[in-house]
Amino acid sequence: MHATIDLSRYRTPLANLDAVDPNDAGPYATDDDGREAAAEDLDELIERMAELQRKFYADGRFALLLVLQALDAGGKDGTIRRALSGLNPQGVRVRSFKRPTELELAHDFLWRIHQAAPRKGEIGVFNRSHYEDVLVVRVDGLVPEDVWRRRYEHIVAFERLLHDAGTHFVKVYLHIDRDEQRERLQKRLDDPSRHWKFDANDLRVRAQWDDYRAAFAEMFARTGHEPTPWLIVPANRKWYRDLVVATAMVEAMEALDLRWPEPSVDLSAFTVGD
Ligand code: AMP
Ligand code: MG
Repeated sequence: MHATIDLSRYRTPLANLDAVDPNDAGPYATDDDGREAAAEDLDELIERMAELQRKFYADGRFALLLVLQALDAGGKDGTIRRALSGLNPQGVRVRSFKRPTELELAHDFLWRIHQAAPRKGEIGVFNRSHYEDVLVVRVDGLVPEDVWRRRYEHIVAFERLLHDAGTHFVKVYLHIDRDEQRERLQKRLDDPSRHWKFDANDLRVRAQWDDYRAAFAEMFARTGHEPTPWLIVPANRKWYRDLVVATAMVEAMEALDLRWPEPSVDLSAFTVGD
């Protein structure tokens, strides 16, 4: 490795939106040499993640859940595609949360979330999550304030429940600034291979920038404590964003003190014949 990223700078409750610069590149220079070092480090992290996943899967005592939140064009899809590219798909479950269906709306807001939670040995990835229920729902006023306000407590208790059952969280907010979002949305209009990603609704949401900022700030303050803190990831530079998320996944698995399971029988009694 050329450099190691200090994640504590990005972790709530100490970190906040003003303290983390979306352009930050951590210990890396932003010239060609820095980019080259970063690319090599990412490859190494991806390899380490893959090795750790094998043991994590075999160990089977824990689940890992990566929660990805961001504004439109924040890079959730790209992060999954690149930073997690070394994982064995057999042990990964990615779930994208869209506008709730009629059936989902007929239940409490965590109903669909709980069903998608990873089992032990599995890595779950939430592309959007239960946090939409205190973000878009709040900003668009989809339910009364006294309803969404109580959800912070529900979320903290729910995550505590999953954590007590062996689920470790990596909660990531991809932090881009307004200019970067403009450029990325513009690209979706200009580049035919990105037209499918353009959603006129994204422009409406962009106009609510300040409301979202306030909603994110309160979300970090209320749901950003141990054992499930947020990481506010500088995300204007995609290569650095990927490095931070890969580092977080590797560190989360390394912290688990993973073990290969003991064989259930005395293996010395066996020989594999011809
Ligand atoms: P995309 O991620 O671009 O596919 O868009 C998914 C859309 O679903 C976004 O506009 C989200 O705001 C919306 N969405 C996700 N979860 C919820 C929710 N709980 N309530 C309302 N809208 C949601
Ligand atoms: Mg979209």
